[in-house]
Amino acid sequence: MTDVSIMGKNLCFSLPTQVHMVLDRLANAGHEAFLVGGCVRDFLRGVVPHDYDLTTSAQPEEMHAAFAGLRTIDTGIQHGTITVLIDGMPIEVTTYRVDGDYHDNRHPDAVTFTTSLREDVARRDFTMNALAYHPAIGICDYFGGCADIADRRIRAVGEPHRRFEEDALRILRALRFSAVLGFSIEEKTAAAARDRAHLLANVSAERIHEELTKLLCGQNVQAVLHEYAGVLAAALPAWYRAARDDIAPLAKRVGAMPSDPVARFTAFLSPLAEMPGEADRVMADLRFDRRTRERVGKLLAHQTDPCTGDLPTLRRFVAGLGAGDARLMLAMHQATATLTGDEERQNALATAHETIDALLQQGACCSVRDLAIGGADLLALGCAPGKTMGLCLQRAFSAVLDGGVENEKNALLAYCKQHLL
Ligand code: ATP
Ligand code: MG
Repeated sequence: MTDVSIMGKNLCFSLPTQVHMVLDRLANAGHEAFLVGGCVRDFLRGVVPHDYDLTTSAQPEEMHAAFAGLRTIDTGIQHGTITVLIDGMPIEVTTYRVDGDYHDNRHPDAVTFTTSLREDVARRDFTMNALAYHPAIGICDYFGGCADIADRRIRAVGEPHRRFEEDALRILRALRFSAVLGFSIEEKTAAAARDRAHLLANVSAERIHEELTKLLCGQNVQAVLHEYAGVLAAALPAWYRAARDDIAPLAKRVGAMPSDPVARFTAFLSPLAEMPGEADRVMADLRFDRRTRERVGKLLAHQTDPCTGDLPTLRRFVAGLGAGDARLMLAMHQATATLTGDEERQNALATAHETIDALLQQGACCSVRDLAIGGADLLALGCAPGKTMGLCLQRAFSAVLDGGVENEKNALLAYCKQHLL
């Protein structure tokens, strides 16, 4: 077993003062403490970390003593995690720990605190996430994580089959990191991910949703879907059944979409578009919120819509999707047209985009809500409230779109009196 390789001398990452403060508090109380996980990985990639996690030899009650006077939250005290809040910056600090046995392919039965940094990093998923850093010591690398980051490689810590059996979420994390960072998955780790893919059935829908969203928005999603669609089958059987025969073009299309979760999910679920209710069922199973389900459903329904045409057509298109999603749909069609190199279509879509932007800028009527009359006006004309009124407003809106009447109060009232009431 390799001992720790310390790369200290020249490595000096600039850390927020809050992080220095937490490290100093723990050191002054006689404890070891290191930055660990994603933040160290990101430093080495030359990326500013989005948050800072610390690992320490201090037990939770010792942390409380060391952080006296600072605001702390017992985030997961039974697992040794305390969050320190300094000037609005949360810093998670966790006692060095080893995980006990796993019986459900997801959670350890128990965790035990330890005084060994090595043991703590050995429980982590990938070598790139098993690095620790202290400004006075440098990087502590027990498993070759630095070399793997330099080679842009994702490698399980220890025996990959066993690590994925312990916690099947790691399989999805490997795919997600590969998509987001553009790293490849090392051969044995990749083989184990494939061999153990069926265990993804034991991972909660919420976690699959979370990881899949990040995966789909990653810059390298095309390659990951292309190579690992079969791994996703256990988590998304209905999607896989519909998608498996056409993975290559699908992966390409998903990767070409704007990096927006709704756009990427819509493209990802497009093989289910022709099967009534299927895409929505997949999203419901993954615990998507109702609003996102509706948005994706509508975008899927507009997939075959040309999204170009004359003014009334474009206004109806905007009315159907709302301004934001109409623009998103156009961007999605533009991405597809760029992919296929269809210049005529690209030009038509660019014109549609300009027309819609102009319409929206002029405040043109693109939804019932934009009408110059409302329910109160119709009530004053003697229209019954409820369904009749809704229908009347819809028809008035339709007439405005077709150019049959101006979106102006008196003109609309006259139109309603004459044709609708
Ligand atoms: P991100 O940039 O997405 O936050 P991260 O590596 O920081 O990436 P987190 O989910 O925040 O990911 O986890 C923090 C650290 O905890 C990881 O770097 C890794 O060391 C460890 N870790 C997280 N999840 C697991 C897991 N399922 N199995 C083993 N170790 C894990
Ligand atoms: Mg993190």
